Amino acid sequence: MKTIGILGSTGSIGTQSLDVAKKRGYRVSFLTAGSNAALMEQQIREFHPEKAALLNEAKARELKMRVSDTSTRILSGEEGICECAANSGADIVINAIVGLAGLRPTLAVLNAGKNLALANKESLVAGGELVLSEAEKHHAKILPVDSEHSAIFQCLQGKPSNAAVKKIILTASGGPFFGKTEKDLEKVTVKQALNHPNWSMGAKITIDSATMFNKGLELIEAVRLFHVRPSQVDIVVHRESIVHSLVMYDDNSVIAQLGLPDMRIPIQYALTYPERYESPVEELDLAKCGTLTFFAPDEKTFRCIDLCRQAVEKGGLYPAAVNSANEEANAMFRAGQIRFLEIPRLIEAASAAVHNQEHFTIDDVFSIDRQMRETVRALAKV
Ligand code: NDP
Repeated sequence: MKTIGILGSTGSIGTQSLDVAKKRGYRVSFLTAGSNAALMEQQIREFHPEKAALLNEAKARELKMRVSDTSTRILSGEEGICECAANSGADIVINAIVGLAGLRPTLAVLNAGKNLALANKESLVAGGELVLSEAEKHHAKILPVDSEHSAIFQCLQGKPSNAAVKKIILTASGGPFFGKTEKDLEKVTVKQALNHPNWSMGAKITIDSATMFNKGLELIEAVRLFHVRPSQVDIVVHRESIVHSLVMYDDNSVIAQLGLPDMRIPIQYALTYPERYESPVEELDLAKCGTLTFFAPDEKTFRCIDLCRQAVEKGGLYPAAVNSANEEANAMFRAGQIRFLEIPRLIEAASAAVHNQEHFTIDDVFSIDRQMRETVRALAKV
């Protein structure tokens, strides 16, 4: 029986991961979350992990009381989360934390030589070489959970060593504001931006999908995971979210992966790789889908894609800088403090001030994080 650990178990990916675990009969060695003690209590009672951690110290104390009749040990703070990540009986750990807060846990999992099913794209984008070299040093695999990267990973299976990849083609749903002009976007509300057409996800990534910063993060993620140049990653808008991404080989043959838009397919593949098992999701019926459409992205209106492309081309700390600037601007938009179109403007203005360095440490990433958040707030005068 496989044993898994889940970082961010109370979120959208975390709960779907537990659903997959239940269907596959996996043992769960640990669970972590931010502050949702009530849901964590339910998960502890259902999955009986050895350890669980909450970031919020007061909520962790509350959880300890709630589950004092169980054998689960409750830890707290980032230290407690990293302790779960580093010391567990898990065969594979899913990182479904949102944001840069996932970076230290990602490194802790890899440092322990455990395979990592990675949903937390921000840790790979910001951590870059730090994350990749930790995986290599400890012979740990990084298995993509993001549906596009899982698709690419699947399209690359069985690639003979001499077959060169010409391009990676990332599909994008286009989010709720597909086809809108900059003028239309001036007054969009948080509620409208949170209304994603195809996927039900956490709030931060849903806003990232509306700005298309999410596609920019995925471009950087693809460069890191598949060792391609940024210029080899194309983006195509595909409104139906059935084709999850494609790989074009040197002979212009294009291989795609298709399926219904349900994250439990890529989550399960990351957990069972290289095996495949019965799906928790319905079959794809292409005749029912009817038409599949594809459009070039409007990168002039949705400027976040190019901001990310430029950041990965510059390299060093730039990807970390745009990621942190976006985290702050995204949160400020959700809190009603700035307008939608200020998100790309603030990311661009804040990251222009970065003193880049090619080689960096984890402390440099968190120092840029603090700098970017302060700069974004100062520029927005919040
Ligand atoms: P959610 O917001 O739904 O869940 C986030 C999880 O992380 C929750 O368990 C939350 O706990 C926990 N958390 C929040 N902040 C912290 C923190 N500072 N430290 C530790 N834990 C924290 O996010 P999603 O599940 O939507 O996304 C998770 C990751 O997966 C993101 O990186 C996202 O980009 C990626 N992803 C998500 C997809 C989706 O369909 N949702 C698709 C592809 C990728 P609490 O509930 O207590 O706040």
